[in-house]
Amino acid sequence: MSELRRLVDANREYVDDHLGIADAEPRRHLAVVTCMDARIDVFAALGLELGDAHVIRNAGGRVTDDVLRSLALSSHALGVDSVVVMQHTRCGLAGVSNAELEEVTGSGIDFFCIDDHVETLRTDLQKIRDTPYLSVLSEVAGFVHDIDPGHITEIVEA
Ligand SMILES: [Zn+2]
Repeated sequence: MSELRRLVDANREYVDDHLGIADAEPRRHLAVVTCMDARIDVFAALGLELGDAHVIRNAGGRVTDDVLRSLALSSHALGVDSVVVMQHTRCGLAGVSNAELEEVTGSGIDFFCIDDHVETLRTDLQKIRDTPYLSVLSEVAGFVHDIDPGHITEIVEA
């Protein structure tokens, strides 16, 4: 069975049990920026329920221009006032260089590699704090999530 077919079949079962959430505003007024890593269950790891938070994912959980774009809408149009940036141990972007990733991917783009999680989080949180249209955010913090035991090992405040 193709992956596509499995998705469509799973959706048929999902629809039977689906309870819609009317309000698009996250109930906890929270956005979580994190890595796309398939091992991270953001909702379970942080005790969130469907409808509680925006979850913005990319490689590394880095604060890119596109993340700022999403946060502009989260904060100004959808009531978000707190942002957590959550990176994780054993991330594919940690300890590699753009040159190495260019070898693998054939792309010379900036992959936003991570040398040190705490240092990188400080940089990313500062990027949010330095963005004038995000000055409405009251709380901005960073977590390092250890994906093996599952706990948060570092908390970095902006
Ligand atoms: Zn990762």
